[in-house]
Amino acid sequence: MDKEQFRQWSHKAADWGADYRESLRDRPVRAQTAPGEIAAAIASAPPEMAEPMEAIFADFEKTIVPGMTHWQHPRFFAYFPANAAPVSVVAEYLVTAMAAQCMLWQTSPAATELETKVLDWLRQALGLPAGFAGVIQDSASSATLAAMLVMRERALEWQGNAKGLAGQKPVRVYSSDQVHTSIDRAVWIAGIGQDNLVRIPTKGALRSMDADALSEAIAREREAGLLPAGIVASVGGTSVGGSDDVASVCAVARKHGLYVHVDAAWAGSAMICPEFRSLWSGVEEADSVVFNPHKWLGAQFDCSAHFVRDPESLVKTLAIQPEFLKTHGKEGLINYSEWSVPLGRRFRALKLWFLIRAHGLEGLRSMIRNHVAWAGELAERLAREPDFEIVTQPMLSLFSFRHRAPDGSDEDAHNLALVNRINDQGRIYLTQTRVDGRVAIRFQVGQFEATEADVDTAFDAIVDAAHAGF
Ligand code: PLP
Repeated sequence: MDKEQFRQWSHKAADWGADYRESLRDRPVRAQTAPGEIAAAIASAPPEMAEPMEAIFADFEKTIVPGMTHWQHPRFFAYFPANAAPVSVVAEYLVTAMAAQCMLWQTSPAATELETKVLDWLRQALGLPAGFAGVIQDSASSATLAAMLVMRERALEWQGNAKGLAGQKPVRVYSSDQVHTSIDRAVWIAGIGQDNLVRIPTKGALRSMDADALSEAIAREREAGLLPAGIVASVGGTSVGGSDDVASVCAVARKHGLYVHVDAAWAGSAMICPEFRSLWSGVEEADSVVFNPHKWLGAQFDCSAHFVRDPESLVKTLAIQPEFLKTHGKEGLINYSEWSVPLGRRFRALKLWFLIRAHGLEGLRSMIRNHVAWAGELAERLAREPDFEIVTQPMLSLFSFRHRAPDGSDEDAHNLALVNRINDQGRIYLTQTRVDGRVAIRFQVGQFEATEADVDTAFDAIVDAAHAGF
């Protein structure tokens, strides 16, 4: 591709993107293709000779787009959102065009210095105290892995990286069963092992860890010769928004000298609204916190904000400096690759800077407040419908419900069939979970351009599909 073609196709891609976004409401939300259908339409061997861009682009439109699930569709009510506000897409285009490797300050000073600034903007926006320093990770999973490694190293007196875990006391980490599976994987990868992730029973509507049970478990295990290292608290768990009482978790951690990591990957965005901060009160006492601006806030994937109270512990755990990565003559600079597991880093701060400036915190707050209000209203409407039951009340903009199965039929199977029927119809997209062992249907509204009318459509789509019978 020469320079003129690059210009031409970049314009074409930008036009395509704008048309695509405009057309979303006319598309089914979830891809309607059968497994293998897309693969069958793609050549089984790579071309030996160059192909014209016209042909490549035409195939993209013909073969790929119909196989996409439209995450930016305003009626995407499944999982959690992965909002890419248009302004963050524009920023990403610029980042992609520059394609810098931002691993060290000197490999792009603007990327490092903007990251420090916008993470501090976010810290202020969330109401976190000035002591927290932030870094952008590629995902909450990576932030949690980094936190898990710090917990491990701290407990092993910084000997784990050097000596490995063989011969050490078993390192123990505590959480409820409401945390995301990224916590399990972090425990695996950190070499701690699934059996050393201790599940603490939960209580209350928010399914919060029982602080007394947590404290007792830590004391008992230490007494038994194990090595309690840290606690992962959930704020807005993926299934139904399960949330720990962060203040009491931190009090237990303080008593026993443990590290606390808070996973607020989804719910963290809502903390830009002061009225929701009671959901994580005590967070200022935590050692680290992760939330994903790439979920609800609108920063194009990937963009995970990881705040730490003591960056030195993170750097002590992860920094490695072969000669080729040293920045001679400029001491005291931040090299963010020393704060994360991957060395290479994309320039992720730009989209946050564009997003926050273009919408202002007030613009982002009003989006989140609307979503929370609309989810609450929908839950009330469904609760009034015969044969519908609200299984978990709204936690911010997420709740779960169930439809009563006809007499004698299996209720789990009935609700799974209902979700499939709704998604096959394509007007909205929902996913399911299990609550206390039984299938429940999740609903969350969070898409950047969703309107109240889209939520009304969700009500119609759910009720129509249930009434249509099976
Ligand atoms: N934590 C929670 C509560 C989540 O809901 C998710 C993903 O949905 C994650 C962690 C993992 O996020 P990521 O995909 O950024 O690793």
